[in-house]
Amino acid sequence: MQLILASSNKGKVREFMQMCEKEIVPYDTVVPPFEIVEDGTTFAQNALIKARAVYERTGEESIVVADDSGISVPVLGGRPGIYSARFAGESATDKENLAQLVEELKALGISKTAAYYTASIAIVSRFGEYAVHGWMYGDVIDTPRGENGFGYDPIFIPEGYSQTIGELDEEIKSMISHRAKAFALAKPIVQMLTNKARSDQ
Ligand code: IMP
Repeated sequence: MQLILASSNKGKVREFMQMCEKEIVPYDTVVPPFEIVEDGTTFAQNALIKARAVYERTGEESIVVADDSGISVPVLGGRPGIYSARFAGESATDKENLAQLVEELKALGISKTAAYYTASIAIVSRFGEYAVHGWMYGDVIDTPRGENGFGYDPIFIPEGYSQTIGELDEEIKSMISHRAKAFALAKPIVQMLTNKARSDQ
């Protein structure tokens, strides 16, 4: 049995390793890298699309984990949502995506409005498919503040705080983030599946 992450992002591999307290390998160390078209309409669908695509190639002995995440702003009709990573264009950088959101808020004359991050983690194995979610609620502002975190963090103020994630200690983010909450739900599932696979052999 092999635990495989449907991403080659080193940061994600590290985060998932800490989460599972197990060896998890990026999928491109097992099969040649390939393009996965994320054409789902929800975070869970996109996470499942990634996990299934990798599982189909890595086979029945694998447990594949994938994630999908983003930020939603209700006043913008939920955008950028599942398009968070490509809000300013297909190959946009985090900086460009952040600037795009700031620009849209400014264009509407909004200095602060409700927003939330979503993280979905999908797990696919021969025992079935699972998807769990975590959320972090708060506000976005029209002026970036702080250098911590990544992506939209300089404009996101979590509920109960007055600083942006960009200004807050990274340890705080790791306790309250959407991803941390999704990890907490995914961990016992991964544990259960690895035990099942072991006892099946
Ligand atoms: P993914 O890697 O396809 O899940 O894309 C996630 C995108 O959502 C990133 O490119 C960021 O723009 C945004 N995002 C997700 N989680 C966070 C976070 O914790 N902080 C800031 N931006 C995030």
